[in-house]
Amino acid sequence: MSTAVMGIDLGTTHSEVALINEQGEPMLLSINGSVLLPSVVSVDAENRILVGQPAVNNELAAPQKTLRWIKRRMGEQISLPLGNRLVTPPMVSSMILSSLKQAAEQHLGHEVHQAVITVPAFFSDAQRSATQQAAELAGLEVLRLVNEPTAAAMAYARGNQRDERWLVYDLGGGTFDVSIVDCSPSVMEVRASHGDTALGGHDIDLLIARAAAADFAAQHDIQLESDPLLWPQVIAAAEAAKIRLSGANQARLRVEYLTQSSDGTPLHLDWPLSRETLEIMVAPLIERSLLSVHEALRQANLRASDLARVLLVGGATRMPRIAQRLHEELGMPPQQWIDPDQVVAIGAAIEAALLSGDQVGIQAVDITPHSLGIDAMNSTGTLHMVPLIPRGAPLPCSMNRLFHRVHEAQSTIDVGVYQGESRDPHACLELGRLRLSDIPDDEDLSVLCRFHLDRSGILAVEVESGAGGKRANIQIERKLARENKNLAELGLLPSPSQVNVDAQLTNANWEDASDPEPSPVASEPPEPSCAADDLFMRAQNLLDSRSLDPDDAEDLLQALAAARSGTTSQRQALADLLYFLE
Ligand code: AMP
Repeated sequence: MSTAVMGIDLGTTHSEVALINEQGEPMLLSINGSVLLPSVVSVDAENRILVGQPAVNNELAAPQKTLRWIKRRMGEQISLPLGNRLVTPPMVSSMILSSLKQAAEQHLGHEVHQAVITVPAFFSDAQRSATQQAAELAGLEVLRLVNEPTAAAMAYARGNQRDERWLVYDLGGGTFDVSIVDCSPSVMEVRASHGDTALGGHDIDLLIARAAAADFAAQHDIQLESDPLLWPQVIAAAEAAKIRLSGANQARLRVEYLTQSSDGTPLHLDWPLSRETLEIMVAPLIERSLLSVHEALRQANLRASDLARVLLVGGATRMPRIAQRLHEELGMPPQQWIDPDQVVAIGAAIEAALLSGDQVGIQAVDITPHSLGIDAMNSTGTLHMVPLIPRGAPLPCSMNRLFHRVHEAQSTIDVGVYQGESRDPHACLELGRLRLSDIPDDEDLSVLCRFHLDRSGILAVEVESGAGGKRANIQIERKLARENKNLAELGLLPSPSQVNVDAQLTNANWEDASDPEPSPVASEPPEPSCAADDLFMRAQNLLDSRSLDPDDAEDLLQALAAARSGTTSQRQALADLLYFLE
């Protein structure tokens, strides 16, 4: 078994590329001796693009010509200076993807044009589209964007022999996701996802660096944070101390000859930090992540006692306090027997093999973590966000819903497309707008709205007026300004000399787990089950809670009865009602 579709973890701090080898085992490619390619891009004195470790090395001399943490800017309409060029976040990400593509091509001895790329489960439509755009610029077709915790669960699920429910806690360098998955020997089905795309190990580094900088300012009256040359060095020292404190009780942030005083005396940064102090500093961040854990459990209608395992994913989960807090909170010790930095890329390679037609013994069914809908006016003239696709709907998914023009002479319809859980459109994220104009005067007031969410979580919307058959549609990703050239045409290809590839087999077997299981058995996966059972349970719970007023309870009872014996659209009507009542 072999596949020429790469599995790529495009991370905030590091990125990895993995393939499935002839023996059917996932394999990470190592570039310049490491399977972790720093997600850093820089330009050297000759204006050549550097990616990975060479870019990190160049950063000390030229921080203003170096870009990091670009994943956090994906989806923003911005241009950033990189040497003498202006680049967009997708362009920077595409340079990283190009390096990974070169590594895979060098390993395989032929060109590779397709990839599965992972993204945080909580990434918005714009962030997903920006990732796709980055891949296109790198000359890659994205067969699927896969949510990171889903990919990690796939890596763990391959080899699982039981029906179990897991919670995947994924804290990487820049993003946090939590997913609850139901795993059988052949299918891994996501039940709920939550997260925070602005929470990661980097935030811990910043907390440490700011505390050290405050102490330095008090001693020397020098502001390190506002100095573009010094600040990256302080952050690097903070990260190194943080990593040391995962295995030790004391560490020091040290940068010798960091700067000098006004009289020319050399000044070193040398700041002690204990694990105890670090744990006090990061407590609010960990508690923030636990809110998402409880929200995911709530969305799945589950309690911690319903979980069989808690799995840790992402380098930042190596911090011992995280496992301790999860143990306290969920009542079971979290597990981690696949390298937390590599597990997402391994899952991406498994998904890539699956999409290439290889038998890998497991299939994933993912969900959308956000509700998607349009703004529409209710009878009192207030604009509401009306969800067409509810949070938790399995992918892919299509929904239609009928709306009405306000009166026969209304010739224009302006529709806002939103992502979010609030009834107030202003509290949701606007994904795009459609406009139908020149609608003829007609007594047919109907307006049909169609949503299609593909397996990568990218949305297409169509609106059609019954009067005159007028239509408007958008693939939401088209809202982004698209570069129509690839990296090579833009003269932005990373210099290839840095790629030096070894293949490294991963340590991803259940035999390594603390609770060993026999090897996997491949079987045909069942049809993905729809979320109907969940829906019925949520409705029943709400009725049992007696928190509804009598009219709402009556409506819910009727909708539940219709949905139990009815069609997808009746189940959808129940989902919509639940959305408003919960
Ligand atoms: P990832 O995105 O999964 O590669 O995770 C990268 C993050 O994990 C960075 O913020 C690293 O500083 C952090 N990290 C890596 N190793 C450790 C460790 N031993 N202790 C704490 N954080 C770590």
